[in-house]
Amino acid sequence: MKVLYSAQDIDATVRRLAATVHDDYADAKPLCVCVLKGAVVFMTDFIRAYDDYLEIDFMDVSSYYGGTESTGDVRIDKDLDTSVKGRDVLIVEDIVDTGTTLKALKALFAHRGARSVKIVALLDKPAGRTVDVQADYVGETVPGEFLVGYGLDYKGLYRNLPYVGVLKPEVYK
Ligand code: 5GP
Ligand code: MG
Ligand code: MG
Repeated sequence: MKVLYSAQDIDATVRRLAATVHDDYADAKPLCVCVLKGAVVFMTDFIRAYDDYLEIDFMDVSSYYGGTESTGDVRIDKDLDTSVKGRDVLIVEDIVDTGTTLKALKALFAHRGARSVKIVALLDKPAGRTVDVQADYVGETVPGEFLVGYGLDYKGLYRNLPYVGVLKPEVYK
């Protein structure tokens, strides 16, 4: 495993993101939506670094990569418990790759009457993008490699690593 970001690197990045987001939200009380399962680790650190009122909720979606730009590309496996109507929604994502998931979620929350919808992503992989979407806050821009750790899995494993690394190709070939 090649370590790309150590636990200390990630800690500094998460604190920087939380401070920047907090500056922008001022008196708003964001509804942080964690996209399961990959973003769980980032979300739990992010909300503890965010030094103010917020609420959290969870959503699980499966992407279909066949389609193009409609919300039909994403199936909701677990929906929110909270209404987003009139809320400032902050989608918390581990990594933006094709962008399919985030584009669909943004459209969905706007459709449901959110006052604002923003995205904070720990990692951004621009090389993977197939739809036009950009996170409002990005921790690190990463190369087009398959990453694991800090929430990111390979076949369900490695999510609990405290760092982000690149899997050796031998592991998945
Ligand atoms: P997309 O942006 O393609 O809709 O989906 C992004 C999701 O794909 C991420 O939330 C993450 O769960 C998964 N993903 C994208 N790139 C990687 C990667 O390098 N490693 C792992 N483990 N998952 C990834
Ligand atoms: Mg994810
Ligand atoms: Mg899922």
